[in-house]
Amino acid sequence: MDPILAVGSVAFDSVKTPFGEKSRVVGGAATYFSVAASFFTDVRIVGVVGADFGEEAMRVFGGRRIDLAGLERVPGETFRWKGEYGFDLNSRETIYTHLNVFEKFQPKIPDAYRTTPFVFLGNIQPGLQMDVLNQVTAPRLVALDTMNFWIAGALDQLKQVLRRVDILIINDSEARELAEHPNLVKAAHRIQAMGPKILVIKRGEHGVLMTRPDDGGFFAAPAMPLETVFDPTGAGDTFAGGFVGYLASCGEVTDASLRRATIYGSTMASFAVEDFSLDRLLTLRPEEVTARVSEFKRLTHFDVL
Ligand code: AMP
Repeated sequence: MDPILAVGSVAFDSVKTPFGEKSRVVGGAATYFSVAASFFTDVRIVGVVGADFGEEAMRVFGGRRIDLAGLERVPGETFRWKGEYGFDLNSRETIYTHLNVFEKFQPKIPDAYRTTPFVFLGNIQPGLQMDVLNQVTAPRLVALDTMNFWIAGALDQLKQVLRRVDILIINDSEARELAEHPNLVKAAHRIQAMGPKILVIKRGEHGVLMTRPDDGGFFAAPAMPLETVFDPTGAGDTFAGGFVGYLASCGEVTDASLRRATIYGSTMASFAVEDFSLDRLLTLRPEEVTARVSEFKRLTHFDVL
């Protein structure tokens, strides 16, 4: 079982969905990722919070396999983001993104972290993702997540870091935007030429499409059909936590383990959306994860006669 080094936003989110509204709840890409991945292995989080991120907020990390030595606290305000979802929860509008303490953040990877074999460059300024990558020694696997905000605002830096990435985890609309092509298969091939050979394309309630490293084909998984979808915020980062967490826990990156990782990622994401913020993940038990993975197997299994 290998540990994961994870950088990304730790945030206060405000979220409006058709089912309600919450402001200043704990969120952030690294937060969702770490909580999800800690079900599978040890996570070393790298990020920054402001003086306003008090003990109550820090509680989300408590009692889990999350090492906080790389989470700095500095004077100023924590990263803030506000999003609003449309009626079918598939469309989301960002109302604001305040980088706050992330604006001047310079990650300093603790010496003991530098040889971590699995590295997750979570959604944050691509320059910071690069800073982290420059401080680690010969990682076995580097996965990266990003979003439209950075594709639009920091494309050159993003392309530089992509050259050094093995797995890109990205939304379908963002894959099209990054590749500048509307066809997802063509977009995937264009992005592979930018660096990452494995692409995990998240398609919301339509599931996940992953490029296969062995023969250039795809693996597809549906999303779990759920009666309760409350708040999709963090679904992507939670997916990434389950996906990379599973890979690190089994230590090998093969076609078979990548397929299973996709199902573990989808399973973790299916829980995250059932309640606001991190609420469902914080009460989740490992037995529930195992049971839902079995449900996934039943959902997708068929016999060829
Ligand atoms: P997801 O729903 O998986 O795309 O992730 C939403 C989370 O990402 C929220 O908790 C936000 O705090 C965080 N987030 C939103 N925009 C950004 C951004 N531009 N950079 C870093 N994190 C962000």
